[in-house]
Amino acid sequence: MSFAENLFTVEQRIQAACRAASRPRDRVLLLAVSKTIPPVRLREAALAGQTSFGENYVQEALPKLSALADLPLDWHHIGPIQSNKTADIAAHFGWAQGVDRLRIATRLAGQRPAHLPPLKVCVQVNVSGEASKSGCAPSEALALCRAIAALPGLQLRGLMTLPAPTMSEREARASFRQLRAIYDAARAEGMALDTLSMGMSDDFEAAIAEGATLIRIGSALFGRRDAGKRHDEAAS
Ligand SMILES: *Cc1c(COP(=O)(O)O)cnc(C)c1O
Repeated sequence: MSFAENLFTVEQRIQAACRAASRPRDRVLLLAVSKTIPPVRLREAALAGQTSFGENYVQEALPKLSALADLPLDWHHIGPIQSNKTADIAAHFGWAQGVDRLRIATRLAGQRPAHLPPLKVCVQVNVSGEASKSGCAPSEALALCRAIAALPGLQLRGLMTLPAPTMSEREARASFRQLRAIYDAARAEGMALDTLSMGMSDDFEAAIAEGATLIRIGSALFGRRDAGKRHDEAAS
């Protein structure tokens, strides 16, 4: 299947999920997760109209970003961030979705080049419990959000979660609901959040039903990756 055909199918599914949840389609951003996908295929995706892309591995991403620098694309770093990668993320990405501790946020803030707009940030929350290694604890999420919102060079936009790969559909859905509750609590405090990043190829309809505003789709758009690379708990 070509990217355009897969995009059509995914778009139909998104529209159906939005209709079922009585939500407007334009409140759900489709992020194409492009780890392991070469630039030539991303160019094809861009031609099909896709503009937002997510990459996990900085080393893999940088040559791809420069190969596609002629296109007006929006790059999201997704997943865990090692401290030795913050400078590259701050310099080359529009978004960092895997921020789960203040030390990383502070480095990103200090390293964001002054000529660029603030780096958009989602705090990654571990709502899967023991089964997941990355993300801050739900009980720490609001304090971390408050601290990040005060940093220059960053714009806190919302929350992100990645259910543990072992979770059942029902458990994943419960974790989406829990993330939504933290998001609502942050907004009730007056934080100007607009992004709830949750849902992947196998569970994005449930995520949309629970209020996702950004879904991160890899295999449903690009085809299956190698088995070992499906969920990335490994550091970037
Ligand atoms: C790989 C990945 C995705 C996409 O997963 P698919 O199941 O291929 O849609 C989404 N989010 C993160 C953080 C990922 O690492």
